[in-house]
Amino acid sequence: MRQKIVAGNWKMNMSSESSSAFINELKSSNWPQDVNCIIAPPIIYLMELQKVNGKQIDLCGQNCHSNDSGAFTGEIGAAMLNDIGAKYCLVGHSERRSYFNESNEFLKNKVDGLLKNSIIPIYCCGETRIERENGTYFDVVEQQLNEGLFHLDNLQFTKVIIAYEPVWAIGTGLTASAKEAQEMHAYIRKTIEKVYSLEMAESISILYGGSCNPNNAKELFACKDVDGGLIGGASLEPKKFLEIAQAF
Ligand code: PEP
Repeated sequence: MRQKIVAGNWKMNMSSESSSAFINELKSSNWPQDVNCIIAPPIIYLMELQKVNGKQIDLCGQNCHSNDSGAFTGEIGAAMLNDIGAKYCLVGHSERRSYFNESNEFLKNKVDGLLKNSIIPIYCCGETRIERENGTYFDVVEQQLNEGLFHLDNLQFTKVIIAYEPVWAIGTGLTASAKEAQEMHAYIRKTIEKVYSLEMAESISILYGGSCNPNNAKELFACKDVDGGLIGGASLEPKKFLEIAQAF
């Protein structure tokens, strides 16, 4: 049985006060016990949240550098994420790919840096609207996986989480239909099976991300190959985030 996961990506939002208040509200809520709760706050709040956080919530970086240390002004290494208690880190979010020109090759190094430091990468992949419309979306996602993730050996690959996030659905209010999400998740699983094994394909968690909210989460999470969500906008409000977790 794969783990059910609801992960919140706060992006460049929240404040010291609102982030602590959020965590405290979530800690006293009736978050479903069988759903893994992950929050990716801005790094500056991640450190603070570690203090108010209990065991219920796992903290996640939004980005990292592939090197542990060095002359990379403004960057944070995977070793540092580990040092401050992060358990996960997003890799290849579409905003990083498009605004910061992060290529699959570049992301591959981040994945390696994270695994070396015992941090679980949540590897994001997904096609743009044009790629959806011109029918190349399976190829695009497969290439992102091939170049950024499939260099891992069997043992390393068991540690990874994948998030399918169609770019056209992120922050737009447009959501992939349950049918579209299931189709891509099944395709990703088939691709993993080809490269690794059926057993591996069945064991890897694949999250859906893209305008997931309390109204559509139930239908998306009911899909056979959708193991949960990576939530942006709706993760900024504890009530909405909780309702999403309760949608399983
Ligand atoms: C995201 O940024 O990963 C995301 C899914 O955003 P939103 O839920 O706002 O579309």
